[in-house]
Amino acid sequence: MEQHFIGREEVAAKRKQYFYPCTAHFYRNAPQMVRGSMQFMYDENGKRYTDFFAGVSVVACGHCNPAITARTIEQLQQLQHTSTVYLTQPNVDLAERLEEVLPGQLRRSFFVNSGSEANEGALLLARMHTGRKGFIALEGGLHGRTNLTMSVTGLQMWRTDPYLDEDVTFIERPYDPEMSLEDAAARSLESLERVLAEKGGTIAAMIVEPIQGNGGMVMPVFSYFREVKALLEQYGVLLIDDEIQTGYGRTGAMFAIEHFGVVPDIISMAKALGNGVPVAAFATTDEIAASLNRPSASTFGGNPVSAATALAVLDYIRDERLPERAAELGGRLKQGLQALQERYPALISDVRGTGFMLGAELSAPDTAAAAGLTDHVLEEMKDRGYLIGKNGVNRNVLAFQPPLVVTAEDIDGLVNTLDQVLAHV
Ligand code: PMP
Repeated sequence: MEQHFIGREEVAAKRKQYFYPCTAHFYRNAPQMVRGSMQFMYDENGKRYTDFFAGVSVVACGHCNPAITARTIEQLQQLQHTSTVYLTQPNVDLAERLEEVLPGQLRRSFFVNSGSEANEGALLLARMHTGRKGFIALEGGLHGRTNLTMSVTGLQMWRTDPYLDEDVTFIERPYDPEMSLEDAAARSLESLERVLAEKGGTIAAMIVEPIQGNGGMVMPVFSYFREVKALLEQYGVLLIDDEIQTGYGRTGAMFAIEHFGVVPDIISMAKALGNGVPVAAFATTDEIAASLNRPSASTFGGNPVSAATALAVLDYIRDERLPERAAELGGRLKQGLQALQERYPALISDVRGTGFMLGAELSAPDTAAAAGLTDHVLEEMKDRGYLIGKNGVNRNVLAFQPPLVVTAEDIDGLVNTLDQVLAHV
């Protein structure tokens, strides 16, 4: 069947006409993406791009991975939707599989459709369990677009609603370009201790990303979350670990919090759990789950197609040893980026993260110029066939979050191409 693509100008024009004006896309000269295959995407002219952003940390097993889509299609043709009012097998199998990979005693999963919804559920669960209303969150964090998840979001650009929940206390994140990571962690912990001493008895939970994604790939020192957890426990405050962007092997561990030797009370999941099919969940212990003691149901949550897909994803991650692969090849990419930092110290001020959750911060005389430079690098890389992301408080961090199936050759190609682009800045 011959496919007809309307072309990028017409797509852009329709977006302008029918989408909300707040909807942005990358690139001045944006291609129309029409096909994906593992680590590659193709535009309407057949140009191939090696994807180092994975649709914002989603397509970890590769675009249209045949091992996964086959099982999605099979389920789609067998039984698509029932809602949780009927017994079906894929969602219970998925819950059982998640229990196998979740840390500690986290055993129960509630299925929903998006990251925002998973965090909203996690926050509700914490309130129900503790009987308290307040939350603590980190500056620079991003947790969603619903009112409550936006309220705990510490990135100003994503706090749209003028009427956010005011019972949220933000503390400094364990990162500050002006300080060592150790000092920034110590300052953050001091603030946490102060807030808990002042009003710990009113706080239900602290919500964190173990490595901040949108905040610019910020990874604290290893001791940080252990100390956070110990402090929270003194005051009966739960720890919600938002693994929406970091989860399922990307950082070299199944969940990024494992790097810190901490078991959180609640973990929220979305994004790569379905490799592009919407599926999300929040998981917790038997004891905490018992506190969600009023009827609750999500119409699409854990539907057979999403659940069968997530099961296929977890199988693929295990069978292909993707966490090990992310650790090893992510190390290669990080070394490549660090070599570029040495070569261009005036342009790259920091390289950070672990596994395939990496960021390179760009510097320029002022923040607007740094954001402009970031856009320039993204555009040039795209023209040369590489898709990378951007994030950070000042939108000046290049984000590298490829499908975990990229090869050493893809990585070397990306680093060489970035070298060429930076040489011409
Ligand atoms: N938490 C984190 C860490 C995220 O990165 C995002 C999305 N970027 C969300 C929550 C919200 O997820 P969703 O867009 O699926 O609602």
